[in-house]
Amino acid sequence: MMHWPVIEKTAEAYRVAPHMRDYSAARAQFSWDAVARALPRMPDGGFNIAHLAVDRHADGPLAPHCALRFLARGAAPREYSYRDLRAAADRFAQTLSKLGIGRGDRVATLAGRIPELYIAALGTLKAGAVYLPLFSAFGPEPLETRLSLSGARTLVTTDVLYRRKVEAIRARLPALEHVLVVRTGSGPLPANTHDFAALAAEAPAGFATVATLPSDLALLHFTSGTTGKPKGVLHSHSAVVVHEATARYALDLHDADVYWCTADPGWVTGVSYGIIAPLVCGVTTIVDCEDFDVERWYAILAEESISVWYTAPTAIRMLMKAGLEAARARRYPALRLLASVGEPLNPEGVLWGLEAFGLPFHDNWWQTETGGIMIANYAAMDIRPGSMGKPVPGIDAAIVVREANGGVKPVDDPDQVGELALRSGWPSMFRGYLNEDERYRRCFAGDWYLSGDLAKRDADGYFWFIGRSDDVIKSSGHLISPFEVASALLSHAAVAQAGVIGVPDPIMGEAVKAFVELKPGNAADAALNKQLMGHARKLLGTAVAPREIAFIESLPRTRSGKIMRRLLKARELGTAEGDLSTLEGAE
Ligand code: ATP
Ligand code: MG
Repeated sequence: MMHWPVIEKTAEAYRVAPHMRDYSAARAQFSWDAVARALPRMPDGGFNIAHLAVDRHADGPLAPHCALRFLARGAAPREYSYRDLRAAADRFAQTLSKLGIGRGDRVATLAGRIPELYIAALGTLKAGAVYLPLFSAFGPEPLETRLSLSGARTLVTTDVLYRRKVEAIRARLPALEHVLVVRTGSGPLPANTHDFAALAAEAPAGFATVATLPSDLALLHFTSGTTGKPKGVLHSHSAVVVHEATARYALDLHDADVYWCTADPGWVTGVSYGIIAPLVCGVTTIVDCEDFDVERWYAILAEESISVWYTAPTAIRMLMKAGLEAARARRYPALRLLASVGEPLNPEGVLWGLEAFGLPFHDNWWQTETGGIMIANYAAMDIRPGSMGKPVPGIDAAIVVREANGGVKPVDDPDQVGELALRSGWPSMFRGYLNEDERYRRCFAGDWYLSGDLAKRDADGYFWFIGRSDDVIKSSGHLISPFEVASALLSHAAVAQAGVIGVPDPIMGEAVKAFVELKPGNAADAALNKQLMGHARKLLGTAVAPREIAFIESLPRTRSGKIMRRLLKARELGTAEGDLSTLEGAE
């Protein structure tokens, strides 16, 4: 098996005194109640994410501090201070109340990373309504499904997106009463819609944020659809307790930070850690309105003096594909912490951070359902490349096996593979799946929430991701992690991305098959295939190495950047492709 060097990290060696100096000590002292108590309530006792993210800062010394800074090609950056952001969110909340939208109603956005999306999200929360982000590249079909499932009464979008995607399905969305459009084109206002800017201009200034309770619903997120049809996941205002604590502990956000979360706010990470967490912490967030571009990203990291950067394995692999020179062409003196989420981060990726920036990537694990980071690598804790790290203080994670009677049993032996489970009751635990109560109940056994991911824990308490419970490969009696096989392939200089599946085999049960995307300048020929086979066998041994490697132009990915193994498998086996609403490039 592969061995990667441990990256030693101490509080003293870290550039700024980290919020968590010592993991064990932090765990021993931690309580969610204490974190929640430290977050100020509203004067009337209410607890509202928007109060914590904007109102209280706008009323205090941070009022003039830059909250959001939007970058767009060919335009000057647009900045919103905490005071500006509150004023704009107030006007949106006023608009909603004029339209008769309030507590518990669902308000959706469908837009790129424009300021109005952020304003609508915060204004929705202020109004006590439930915020539903929809990814801007969704086509009419996935939009119709999500809008009708959610029963959204209001949608904020742009005129261009409205004409392209919503107009044709509008008649089939009876619950959708109001559409507010941000005008980006020059044409007239589409029929049956309101002008976002005109309503904001008419709205009275100020708004008394609704005094929601911690248990009131705040967010509705659809999952990525990596393993099947996306599920609607409900979260309440208390989720902010986890957002705040993890932004301090896992992302180590400090007051003076300039923070960049590259996840789109159409997904859970882009809302929880791209809007809520950094605002609650009072830092400056950079929002890039443009698509991924290697040169542009390095320029942003350098010129915007980003200090904390939260990104995803797929982006890291794309940067790696472009080569080290591109990264080294600039200096990043402000950069302090790099973090990654969404998919397993291969050890190569963690170490590449050291080569490119002098800093390792800190992998962390969570799900739409968990509402916030649950397992992480921390600023002042040694990193074992390829490991997700250790549970956030306040989170009890275990490896469990299911028992015949429907219960589960935690396994104590180190390195035993089982299902990753969390002791239920943390503040950002999901409150339900939209219209799927039975499915929600099935996620719990006794005290435990069952994640559906397989993992193992080593003798020192580090967790290692093995795979989704439905894509782990069982070959000749071995449990094979598709992630581990992909990591081995990625350590070859020619490989840019790899997706690994099990295909049925009469003798072995399943055989390992890898699909490989090459870096530019490599020929997809038999000689390279043989070389890769040899490389994988050397690292993994013949029992685990792929039996077959196929070259592929581009792996199927979700719009949030995850490799869709279920689609590789369906195509390989000629079975039904299932829900493709979140497939990148499809509309
Ligand atoms: P769906 O539930 O619709 O199939 P999804 O599970 O990909 O989609 P998300 O909630 O966005 O939707 O993703 C959570 C999943 O992403 C986790 O269950 C895990 O499998 C994977 N994941 C996230 N972070 C990591 C990580 N650091 N290491 C390994 N896997 C990760
Ligand atoms: Mg999932």
